[in-house]
Amino acid sequence: MRTIELNKRQEQILQIVKGDGPITGEQIAEKLDLTRATLRPDLAILTMAGYLEARPRVGYFYTGKTSSQLIAEKLRKLKVRDFQSIPVVVNTNVSVYDAICTMFLEDVGTLFVVDESAVLVGVLSRKDLLRASIGKQELTSVPVNIIMTRMPNITICRKEDYIIDVAITLIEKQIDALPVVKETEKGFEVIGRVTKTNMTSILVNLTEDEIL
Ligand code: ADP
Repeated sequence: MRTIELNKRQEQILQIVKGDGPITGEQIAEKLDLTRATLRPDLAILTMAGYLEARPRVGYFYTGKTSSQLIAEKLRKLKVRDFQSIPVVVNTNVSVYDAICTMFLEDVGTLFVVDESAVLVGVLSRKDLLRASIGKQELTSVPVNIIMTRMPNITICRKEDYIIDVAITLIEKQIDALPVVKETEKGFEVIGRVTKTNMTSILVNLTEDEIL
């Protein structure tokens, strides 16, 4: 979405609508000495971006919203399902050693632990595994369920939740990731993960003129 940089003609249109709105596309075209067809893409962009509002049979209004208000509005609408990543899960009886290998191989910072019915039972962070590694135990014989953070203390989210709520939760709970879950009769099935990396890519998208 082009929230930040408008071209010269779009700026001119905004000024006209700001001063003379409500005004029809035809009238704007006249003022700029252009055809209605030439203006159509610019009007579409300004309307989609939220600077202008179009009312049938009345014309265009200036919404008075600033770029940052428009960005905030877009951000508040983003859902988990549009940004979630694939989850990496391990079984509850794998060893701490194998969990560490999985974390390296899969290149993730958080593993979700599931039971034999694929139901979420725990979370393993990098520091959970580091902590276990500096103890005296034999890492190949300690199962992850001894050291994981377990249900019901796991913070979860669902794919239809808002990304901004997940971001707030990550900060409040001081954690790096949430499992995206689906409720089944046995418990929560893990269908995705949302991490601080997902949040960083949203920030980058914002600067890249992409439709959020
Ligand atoms: P690290 O421990 O590597 O800094 P986190 O900040 O994500 O990584 O984890 C901090 C602690 O919170 C760990 O003990 C971890 O098991 C736990 N944890 C991580 N994610 C969750 C979650 N979604 N729900 C509950 N606890 C979690």
